[in-house]
Amino acid sequence: MIEVEGNPVTLQEFLLRVPSEKPPLSYIQSLEPSVLDPVGFDSFEIRQSDPTGARTTLVLPDIATCPKCLGDIFDPANRRYLYPFTNCTNCGSRYSIIESLPYDRPNTSMKHFAMCEDCQQEYEDPRNRRFHAQPNACPECGPRLELWNPSGACVAMRHEALLAAADAIRQGLVVAVKGLGGFHLMCDARNVDSVDALRQRKRREEKPLALMYPTLEMVKDHCDVSPTEERLLLSPECPIVLLRRRIAGDVSIAPSVAPGNPYLGVMLPYTPLHHLLMRELGFPVVATSGNLREEPICTDEHVALERLKGIADVFLVHDRPIVRHVDDSIVRVIAGRELVMRRARGYAPLPVCTKLTMNPILAVGGHLKNTVALGIGQDIFVSQHLGDLETAQSYQAFERTIGSLENLFEIQPAVIACDMHPDYLSTKYADKIGIPVNRVQHHYSHILSCMAENELEGTALGVSWDGTGYGLDGTLWGGEFLRITDQSFERVAHFRTFALPGGDRAIKEPRRSALGLWYETSAEVESEPSHPESLPRKREFNAPQSVSSPRRRGSSLESQKPEFLKSFSEIELKNLLSMLAKGINSPATSSAGRLFDAVASLLGIRHRNAFEGQAAMELEYLADGVDIDEYYPYTIDQGATPYVVDWQPMLSKIVEDLHNGIAAQLIAAKFHKSLAEIIVAAAKIVGESRVILSGGCFQNKLLTETAITRLQEEGFRPYWHQRVPPNDGGIALGQVVAAVRANRGSTH
Ligand code: ZN
Ligand code: ZN
Ligand code: FE
Repeated sequence: MIEVEGNPVTLQEFLLRVPSEKPPLSYIQSLEPSVLDPVGFDSFEIRQSDPTGARTTLVLPDIATCPKCLGDIFDPANRRYLYPFTNCTNCGSRYSIIESLPYDRPNTSMKHFAMCEDCQQEYEDPRNRRFHAQPNACPECGPRLELWNPSGACVAMRHEALLAAADAIRQGLVVAVKGLGGFHLMCDARNVDSVDALRQRKRREEKPLALMYPTLEMVKDHCDVSPTEERLLLSPECPIVLLRRRIAGDVSIAPSVAPGNPYLGVMLPYTPLHHLLMRELGFPVVATSGNLREEPICTDEHVALERLKGIADVFLVHDRPIVRHVDDSIVRVIAGRELVMRRARGYAPLPVCTKLTMNPILAVGGHLKNTVALGIGQDIFVSQHLGDLETAQSYQAFERTIGSLENLFEIQPAVIACDMHPDYLSTKYADKIGIPVNRVQHHYSHILSCMAENELEGTALGVSWDGTGYGLDGTLWGGEFLRITDQSFERVAHFRTFALPGGDRAIKEPRRSALGLWYETSAEVESEPSHPESLPRKREFNAPQSVSSPRRRGSSLESQKPEFLKSFSEIELKNLLSMLAKGINSPATSSAGRLFDAVASLLGIRHRNAFEGQAAMELEYLADGVDIDEYYPYTIDQGATPYVVDWQPMLSKIVEDLHNGIAAQLIAAKFHKSLAEIIVAAAKIVGESRVILSGGCFQNKLLTETAITRLQEEGFRPYWHQRVPPNDGGIALGQVVAAVRANRGSTH
């Protein structure tokens, strides 16, 4: 662990130079930077490890192929020439093949392969790069490739199998490739028919597909790559990096790879198998996880035959078992730093180190994008991304992962932490274990996870914005301002609530959120009494330019029937309105995510989501690059407890702008800007200098960067996510911290 201090530019440069200027014989297996508050170092020293802390074993993540192994597989004179399972102590499979500790070959899925004499010699020679490389293998003794047809018959072996798979991809077929942590589905990313076929078969209509490129140079032809993004692409973690496309609608990539998306999810080959395949092809391929919808990625070739039947035309498989599924990680550069949106291969299960002391705690996470976490001593080990706990498969993966983490680290948790939502499968799991359960409010978990990775203790203002989470008052929270105290939190403010007709169905249909907002403000017109001016403590924030027309509170939505209503059939609208009127299946929510949805629908961008968060994502992309200083008016009602942030003035202005033919890009940009202003205003009212940004909404680069800039301009210290996702993938980490805080409270 290296800690350095300096100005941001120097630190960036340090990060970029470490990989190229490190001592020649060293190899970096993991470079996961995290920007923390300065301590005030004045010299460089190498300190002894602290011997007092609890000893926990580090399980290494899987490491992308090192340059030397790459040299081996492309050297015709080398005995590992073209061998797809080449590795050494610096690189190769770790977490995906470890069954138990200590990390020795008999405890990995390599135990099935007895080393040949040559490999054994390397393994025993301290001067050899493969000294005690547990997965050491060669063409003589190691795993082998086979190409299977859909009935599971082997049609080619070894390098022939790889060449045949490459041929299939060239011909436009979909190939299931057993990789490191699971199967990929691959096809030619330039071939429109292939990509369309893959989408159709996978029943994945619009969600962007990840790409694997043969070389960095080709990535740079298609995308803008900053030095930080380049470092990430080439890093031992080798994640999928979200990169801005060079030319919108680049002709060489099929449009259906990422429809209407200015970004491409790009990775480089990270195993010898992928390197060999990509060198053979020489063009980018779609490399999406081998699964159906949100199920966990397939790891076993026989299961893959069953589950990917009808999706893949051929199967490139091998005989090294994958012990646990590990998806590709996804990162995005936000505010100049990497932000992990999906933490799995290359990162998991490296711990988040804290200053806490913990008896073993198991946290079971949330529901969507689930991860679990173990708190041991000072470390919190967050599992790889497990997915949505919707299907039997993902629930099994969830149970398996808990079991295997407990085994790996040899602990029995004394406490279990879970979400407050009674219906989450993770909550139900926690309840049946029979050890003390700590229920943690969802948005509090979000903030604590961000504080944990920023190594923050004490008080702060948490801005926790996401789709939904179970609130303390039984309503759906999601637009929360929480004052974090030493042991707990206080909900100081939230967005004004509105009813979501059809509850969860609103997640799939942004137009329902729009209808909920519209209904909420129309209802207000009918029951006029709650006039803002009559509330003495209510502060009104007006954007400087809001002089165009007198505001008719509530009435503009009513009088100018918004376009989005046309997306409903007459009967649908009638039913939904009657649900709203009777309060049937229309839970109240303060969700910021749903506010994004509503605005996207109002602007006519999207009324139905093909995947989670699509509308909000498109709203971000629409606003992207629009330079605007204006923002919409809003109010923060300080007469209420908690304070209520009212979106209504903003909404009626948006409807007015739409009516006046203002471009949707401008409205979208202004909307983002307004949300950042709301955060600043709330921060001023609450008066905490540290402001923590967490929750799924802060995957939004524009929102996050604008909020960071504005908070800094106003003298606040914003903190955001880097190593752990702001989405529900970070919930488990926060739950561990919450449990520690709660117990700390009870012992004092
Ligand atoms: Zn290597
Ligand atoms: Zn061998
Ligand atoms: Fe959440």
